[in-house]
Amino acid sequence: MEYREALAEKIPDARRDWPFRGPHFSQEMVARYPQEARIYTTINADLQIFLEDLLAVEVAKVKAEGITNAAAVVIDNQTHQLVAAVGSAGFFNHQDQGQVNGYLAPRSPGSTLKPFVYALALERGLITPAHYVEDVPVLFSGYSPENYDSTYSGLVSAQEALQRSLNVPAVNLLAALGGEALYELLKKAGFTTLTPVNHYGLSMVLGGCEVNLLELTNLYAALAGSGKKYPVQTRLDRGNSPPLTLFSPGVAYIITEILTEVRRPDLPTCWEFTTLPKVAWKTGTSYGHKDAWSIGYNPRYTVGVWVGNFSGEGRAGLSGAEMAAPLLFAIFAQLNSDTTVSWFTPPVTVKKRAVCAVSGQTPGLFCTPLRTDYYLTDCSPEVECTFHQTYLLDPATGYRLPPHYYSAARVTAEQVYLQYPPRVAAWLEANGQPVETLPPLLPEWQKILPGGAPVVRSPSADYIYQIRRGIPLEYQKICLEAAAGNDVRQLYWFIDGEFYGQTKPGERLFYLPEPG
Ligand SMILES: [Zn+2]
Repeated sequence: MEYREALAEKIPDARRDWPFRGPHFSQEMVARYPQEARIYTTINADLQIFLEDLLAVEVAKVKAEGITNAAAVVIDNQTHQLVAAVGSAGFFNHQDQGQVNGYLAPRSPGSTLKPFVYALALERGLITPAHYVEDVPVLFSGYSPENYDSTYSGLVSAQEALQRSLNVPAVNLLAALGGEALYELLKKAGFTTLTPVNHYGLSMVLGGCEVNLLELTNLYAALAGSGKKYPVQTRLDRGNSPPLTLFSPGVAYIITEILTEVRRPDLPTCWEFTTLPKVAWKTGTSYGHKDAWSIGYNPRYTVGVWVGNFSGEGRAGLSGAEMAAPLLFAIFAQLNSDTTVSWFTPPVTVKKRAVCAVSGQTPGLFCTPLRTDYYLTDCSPEVECTFHQTYLLDPATGYRLPPHYYSAARVTAEQVYLQYPPRVAAWLEANGQPVETLPPLLPEWQKILPGGAPVVRSPSADYIYQIRRGIPLEYQKICLEAAAGNDVRQLYWFIDGEFYGQTKPGERLFYLPEPG
């Protein structure tokens, strides 16, 4: 498609008779290459027209709901060319700021960055798709992430957590990676909308930063490109730069498999499953329903869609699943109509194995049932299931015996108990769900058995607690709370080496700090 410099010299104030397509893109090109009279770009005219018309029609439908704009881009994964780019639903619509270029505007990404945290965690060996993640209330430096629907699931697989877009597991994973990992990835990927210093913290993975649609879509294109990110090419007469490796091919493949799952909660309610094109995709909704996103890819194309208001106003109906995803699928239906796409094939580092269906870890002798899970031969965890543990019992008294206990006078028996991680067990119990309790330990052994250390949930180790002036001290008590394995009956609290009090696991104790 060819654009003349004159096209965007002066913004016309009325629709002209000649074809006026891709105005935002043309403006961008002219601004970038002001000296050149002719620029041969990568935009596919037919696709551009299809996208502009689609967005105009769809936005007209939802205007009554106070939703006035949309933007969309399409990247060809094989040539890395930008083949369509729509900046707004109507360039001449002054009332709704139609001249704003929506695919370059910095906006909150909602949940659309989550797949990249899971990708980093896969690469670091923290998870596999079936590996458990904790979905229970947590507190980070005074920050407590909540799920979209304010509920928790206790224990879920990493795959399910990403597909359901749960907030707590995503924040937990980012914390485990080191809070800056996502920021570092986006900097490496060349995101231009981030501030120079990372002040985002863990909420970044929930959309607590700004990105633009084009750069976000190109990050997804790296998942389609075996983990390699190419600069987006916009000119036919310019060669492309070499790629940047963001992920290994195995990581990109597994994340793609997770995002390709069809039956998901973020599927638009209006959609019929039978006509859904095969796409790896994710939706996002920013805080306050201000931005609706859906980004998806197949081996041939990566498509990004944003719906919202340039004024920044939120609307109850603005959700990625309901507003952006239907547009994404409509675009893929159009793209697929003239190409046949064979799906991604697994690289050699991706294999399948049987894992414990409860923990997702490699099975021990007593794990049942089992399930099949993908893993990476070069980095996935090999830890044997920590949930299904065998304990030695004294059938005569019912007491539990220490490991390796032997006495000629006593008959012993082994029994398997399901032991959840302490925080999960405490949450399940507090929510009335059955948790297997270990029988008490043989009385004469109770004091010397080294058990699993309790986990202090509050106060947080990486948070400085300060007494604020002007607020009565009794309102500034610090909560002491710890989770422990369910064989623990009593917890003893020491402050600076001095005994302070005792609680049961999950119970709270309050400490009034003194100035100084
Ligand atoms: Zn197990």
